[in-house]
Amino acid sequence: MTETSESKTGARIERLPLARFTTLGVGGEAEVWFVSDHQQLAEAMAQPYRILGGGSNLVIDDGGVPERVIRLSGPLAGRNLTPDAELSDGDLIVTGWVGGGVPLPGLIRALQKLGYSNLEGTVGIPAQVGGAVWMNAGTRYGEMFGGLHTLEIATPDGLKVVTPDDLRWGYRDSGIPRNHIVTRVRLKLQRSTPEEVLAKMTLADTARKGQPKMKTPGCAFKNPGGMGAGRLIDEAGLKGAQVGGALIAPEHANFIVNLGGATAADVHALLDLIRARVGVPLELEYELWPDDMQRQGMPVSAGAQWSAELK
Ligand SMILES: Cc1cc2nc3c(=O)[nH]c(=O)nc-3n(C[C@H](O)[C@H](O)[C@H](O)COP(=O)(O)OP(=O)(O)OC[C@H]3O[C@@H](n4cnc5c(N)ncnc54)[C@H](O)[C@@H]3O)c2cc1C
Repeated sequence: MTETSESKTGARIERLPLARFTTLGVGGEAEVWFVSDHQQLAEAMAQPYRILGGGSNLVIDDGGVPERVIRLSGPLAGRNLTPDAELSDGDLIVTGWVGGGVPLPGLIRALQKLGYSNLEGTVGIPAQVGGAVWMNAGTRYGEMFGGLHTLEIATPDGLKVVTPDDLRWGYRDSGIPRNHIVTRVRLKLQRSTPEEVLAKMTLADTARKGQPKMKTPGCAFKNPGGMGAGRLIDEAGLKGAQVGGALIAPEHANFIVNLGGATAADVHALLDLIRARVGVPLELEYELWPDDMQRQGMPVSAGAQWSAELK
């Protein structure tokens, strides 16, 4: 049985296996804080924390993480796509606030139905809006920063509202420091038609044809120096290699999938095997919890000091 409690400001707190929040379906327990407003967020950020989005770029250890894990919920996972009358102009649409906890795939479908363009190139990315913005997730057909007007970010010093011009964003990088939390964004979109947006989505989706459909955290390694990581792993004879419940996908060797019952240890064993067999150094695409920050010499958030007289 899981214990549930409530924080002073009303955040729901539950000790839960993180596996249920990741696309790989792997990860041990942590104290999860479901925060639905800024006051709850300020309270949650007062002790060491991690922010978890769609869990689509994470391999979380079987022992979980010691910090509290924040999930945006309620209004921070809600969306207002109505054009803002003051900020929108002709075919330029600036929406109301879209919560960082909103699942990106549903948002992209809703924008398509409205005939609003600019973000359809991100179709098929199983992230939350906040996580996708933080990484500037995208494809060759478009990225998150192609459709942002304003970002609201919870920092250790309080809430900040910024525009993309205020940030040093670039390829798969928003320039937002780790553990600053993207709470809400306003989208900047171009009026088009549902048919045209759908056609662009279909094009972007076609590029995913060879990807496995099973539980996975996406691509394992970045492509080193113009070479395809998948091809290198394939040439090392590793397609179909299996450890426990984890498998190097026969469809595409740069994907590790969970056949059911995989552990983080299984996945790490396959990653080690790949590194040992492929002749060139490979850089991991996904983030490891809890090791990653420590390995990169970054402190886990020390706990933020703001408490909210926030909007
Ligand atoms: C099948 C599949 C296909 C994919 N295809 C693509 C692709 O085409 N292009 C691409 O770029 N990526 C792709 N990815 C990778 C992944 O979806 C992206 O990296 C995405 O940005 C991760 O977002 P998330 O919400 O799942 O974040 P998580 O995996 O939950 O977290 C990743 C990082 O983001 C941080 N984070 C999460 N939420 C917030 C927030 N609100 N504010 C600040 N930081 C936050 C976390 O702390 C962590 O550091 C794919 C993954 C899968 C499984």
